[in-house]
Amino acid sequence: MGRRIMLGVVLAIAVVAFTYFSGEEQKVPVTGRTQRVAMSDAQQEQLGLQVFDQTLADEGEKVIESGAQYEQVKRVAERLAKVGAVDKPEFEWEFALVDRPEVNAFCLPGGKIVVFTGLLDVAKTDDQLATVVGHEIAHAVAEHGAERIFREELTNRAVAAASGAFADDPQRFQQVAGLLGAGAQVGLSLPWGREQESESDHIGLIYMARAGYDPNEAITFWQGMSKASKGQEPPEYLSTHPSHGTRVQQIRGWLPEAQRERRQHDEVA
Ligand SMILES: [Zn+2]
Repeated sequence: MGRRIMLGVVLAIAVVAFTYFSGEEQKVPVTGRTQRVAMSDAQQEQLGLQVFDQTLADEGEKVIESGAQYEQVKRVAERLAKVGAVDKPEFEWEFALVDRPEVNAFCLPGGKIVVFTGLLDVAKTDDQLATVVGHEIAHAVAEHGAERIFREELTNRAVAAASGAFADDPQRFQQVAGLLGAGAQVGLSLPWGREQESESDHIGLIYMARAGYDPNEAITFWQGMSKASKGQEPPEYLSTHPSHGTRVQQIRGWLPEAQRERRQHDEVA
């Protein structure tokens, strides 16, 4: 390794370390995992609201605001948002139903939930819809977006630091930037992404139980999805998520905890 490459790498590590320790450390609700994020709750709320408003404006007439499907989503989203609000009282929880065939739903930072009608063809009961909406709400509560931005910020600063060291040697810079970028892709983004998905499954399961839904239905739902997608491309919603087998196995592991939460809910109610 040449002196210049050494200098670049050392600089990159120093910048990454500085950024890392300047991030806010906190604990994820339910799982208790320690994480660092790049944005405050208020900033996430602001960002989510912007994207939510833009989404509603773009979808226009496809936004559904009445009828049986709307009532179902309202019922489930509001019950789950109430549970999410216990852990994230700063978020302004809102939801929208959009008339699209995609089997999909998402929750923006700050608690803005969007459900596509295509999901309602697959998640047929309130408990099953709560499985998916609970999972999506969990991404927001666990601040996975802000965590991702924090990690990307680390990568960007590392690349920027390396670029300073190679200002007069663009070819070398390309090599190091490529190395750092690939490392970040494989070493940071992908495994973390999967961890975030599993974490959302866990939190979502606990949330649906706290909201009074049957956590066993999460297993029924994912098994049904597994059968439905056999031999064909998985729906878009599933492609970034864990495989069905892993997912069902993990959910079974969290089920006793979820059932305890469900009993507590029933005693209070
Ligand atoms: Zn997810």
